[in-house]
Amino acid sequence: MAASVPSRMLYIDGQWKEPVKRKRLPVINPATEEIIGDIPAATAEDVELAVAAARRAFTRDKGAGWARASGAFRAKYLRAIASKVKDRKTELAKLEALDCGKPLEEAAWDIDDVAGCFEYYADLGEALDRQQRAPVSLPMENFKCHILKEPIGVVGLITPWNYPLLMASWKVAPALAAGCTAILKPSELSSVTCLELAEICMEVGLPPGVLNILTGLGAEAGAPMSSHPHVGKIAFTGSSMTGRTIMTAAAQLVKPVSLELGGKSPIIVFQGVDIEKAAEWTMFGCFWTNGQICSATSRLLVQESIAMEFLEKLVGWTKSIKVSDPLQDGCRLGPVVSKGQYEKIMKFISTAKSEGATILCGGDRPQHLEKGYFVEPTIIGNVNTSMQIWKEEVFGPVLCVKTFSTEDEAIELANDSDYGLAGAVLSKDLEQCDRVSQYLHAGIMWINCSQPTFCQAPWGGNKRSGFGRELGEWGLNNYLNVKQVTTYT
Ligand code: NAD
Repeated sequence: MAASVPSRMLYIDGQWKEPVKRKRLPVINPATEEIIGDIPAATAEDVELAVAAARRAFTRDKGAGWARASGAFRAKYLRAIASKVKDRKTELAKLEALDCGKPLEEAAWDIDDVAGCFEYYADLGEALDRQQRAPVSLPMENFKCHILKEPIGVVGLITPWNYPLLMASWKVAPALAAGCTAILKPSELSSVTCLELAEICMEVGLPPGVLNILTGLGAEAGAPMSSHPHVGKIAFTGSSMTGRTIMTAAAQLVKPVSLELGGKSPIIVFQGVDIEKAAEWTMFGCFWTNGQICSATSRLLVQESIAMEFLEKLVGWTKSIKVSDPLQDGCRLGPVVSKGQYEKIMKFISTAKSEGATILCGGDRPQHLEKGYFVEPTIIGNVNTSMQIWKEEVFGPVLCVKTFSTEDEAIELANDSDYGLAGAVLSKDLEQCDRVSQYLHAGIMWINCSQPTFCQAPWGGNKRSGFGRELGEWGLNNYLNVKQVTTYT
């Protein structure tokens, strides 16, 4: 019998609610192409109900709302959520593997990170209590000034499908810790674990309306949030194209947005590195999460003097990556999330070929898998900087390669992108790593590694990769307004 996912409704005002239009969307297992359940599809009417609930929860009459509660009070709920997430780790990881094709082991690590994120922001939210009324020194003695940090209000949180619950937690945890109330709109392609988060919120007794979870299509459930006058901010993670649409809608109301968008990040490998370690990080940096990572280091720049040896190792190892159903033991690469994404990736590969690039390995669907949206891990050489594969985000297991001779050339090639999310530099010369890190146009730099992410450190990009930072104290500040209070004495 085919696996299935729990059947849920929308989470509004602390309760399960049928979508007003009673619409549902299928959940498709990308490894088998089978329908394994469905999710509710919210529309503008449901957004209205969720906004009203979030507004009531934000400041209940007489100042007893979530916004006015202490950081310590709010932190209790965040810690309780973290604890329930940990208790349900195995089940949540399996649901993510079924819903978006992520290898089970990787999904389990993500769930650990989800719990860690809620715990981290519980601590930061609690610390907010001690930071209120910080004095500002003024040049005139008869004036006194202090600072209040206040939650923005009702916030809209719109997330993508590649890390379903983790991307949600990066927004929900700091928003709630800051005292905002929120409406989460996960991707229609992977909403299952976000609906489980709703159940967890009910179990821990989160006050009604503090968090509302609306699944559904971007145009039907996301767009009404961006243009809603009572949603005070949109925090968005997704494609640059949708980011632009959201920013345009928000601009009509001068609504702040933070945008975590796509990338085409470089990884630079200099001569003298440990070839095996560098090949491992290169594979990890591009094929992790089936290559569907915004920060994937998907443009490899390798120094000419070691290119042949390095590529021989990299291509050999890439061919041995186990591609299978994500629930199978030892799976290293599962299917991409959807038929649409599969077709898009295959088109990128065929365009690269027609533009004159060479497929060094992969480039097709794996022969041993008849069903599912599987793409072989693919490495493409003979690439030049005018090719689509060099310029555009593939969001799949596809690495393109170019060689360079000098450090200056490597930096120039690395910065030859409209995006500016991340970058990696692998060299045994740490001064070189430091220098290159300073010159690269990126919000995140990795030295002698690729992709490690910690909720304490800021996350986000420059250029077409967006603006604003998530995680760390920057993540909390995303949801706070700063107010100065000045007194004449
Ligand atoms: P997407 O832009 O298609 O969708 C993201 C979310 O926006 C979904 O919830 C979708 O329903 C919603 N949406 C779509 N149209 C909308 C509209 N008009 N108004 C409001 N909401 C709308 O992105 P995706 O395909 O889900 O995710 C892949 C993209 O996300 C990639 O480009 C990837 O690089 C990016 N991403 C970035 C980061 C980061 O931290 N920078 C992290 C993960 C993914």
